[in-house]
Amino acid sequence: MSAEILNGTRLAQSIRSQIRKKLKKLNLTPGLAVIQVGDDPASTIYIKHKQRDCFKVNFHSEVHKLPANTTQQELINIIADLSTRKNIHGILVQMPLPAQIDEQTVIDSIPPEKDADGLNPLNLGNLFINREGVTPCTPTGIIRLIDSTGLPIEGQQAVCVGRSHLVGKPIGIMLLNRNATVTYCHSRTMDLAEITKQADILIAAVGNPEFITADMVKPKAIVIDVGINSINDRLIGDVKFDEVKQVAGFITPVPGGVGPLTRAMLLENTLKLAMV
Ligand code: NAP
Repeated sequence: MSAEILNGTRLAQSIRSQIRKKLKKLNLTPGLAVIQVGDDPASTIYIKHKQRDCFKVNFHSEVHKLPANTTQQELINIIADLSTRKNIHGILVQMPLPAQIDEQTVIDSIPPEKDADGLNPLNLGNLFINREGVTPCTPTGIIRLIDSTGLPIEGQQAVCVGRSHLVGKPIGIMLLNRNATVTYCHSRTMDLAEITKQADILIAAVGNPEFITADMVKPKAIVIDVGINSINDRLIGDVKFDEVKQVAGFITPVPGGVGPLTRAMLLENTLKLAMV
């Protein structure tokens, strides 16, 4: 039997509708500022989607587009200015940044109380000690997708393929905080398939198209495909969807799986920061 498809687009819609309902009661306009440095076409599309989402939930949103030769200090100064604005509750710097700018230094400069992406070290530290706070958008969205299956996380074997600060590491911590038994895999992992085959919950965050094949997946597993790989103008995930869906119990599509949830969690984080 074929796996159930976890429809991220529909789940994100219902999260936006809950946000709209909450806002009506709160009489509040959360504000999100997105900064783009340079002209990366994928970033431009992502930012447009984020603006459209803000519009759908009646948030204030603004985009600050800076030239590709912006210096690190200029960018940090703009973040500092935005941080003082009362109508801006969340700040997000769209990655990747040009080579002259160190991404982590920029993330460090976003005050934790305006950190819409949940990637400031203080917010990541709060996640590490399982304290309430803003958490990174993609892993938080992944947890929502897993919860939408109705299956428990507690006691399950979870395997994260990928250990980036953005996705792999934080999703592993979140699953651990929910009492899963977590294994991290990365480019130096030996016998990867032997490990992934143990996973009740398998997270693929590698950035390698169709890397996870059916023979690497436990029957009935929940398979979350985080990968976004652009091949001949098509978006392809890290999971070989057509064959893995024959083995898995649940699977996310690309596009329409994790991506919409990432954006919905950005709205939730901005709302959370506005309510403080
Ligand atoms: P990343 O920083 O490049 O990390 C990739 C991870 O994969 C690294 O930990 C790397 O291991 C591991 N890896 C690479 N080759 C491997 C191999 N052969 N076997 C096992 N592990 C291997 O990427 P990322 O930022 O985490 O993103 C991963 C993917 O998710 C990308 O396609 C990205 O576009 C996508 N993404 C999607 C969303 C969304 O909203 N849908 C959000 C963020 C990212 P090492 O650490 O050893 O190098």
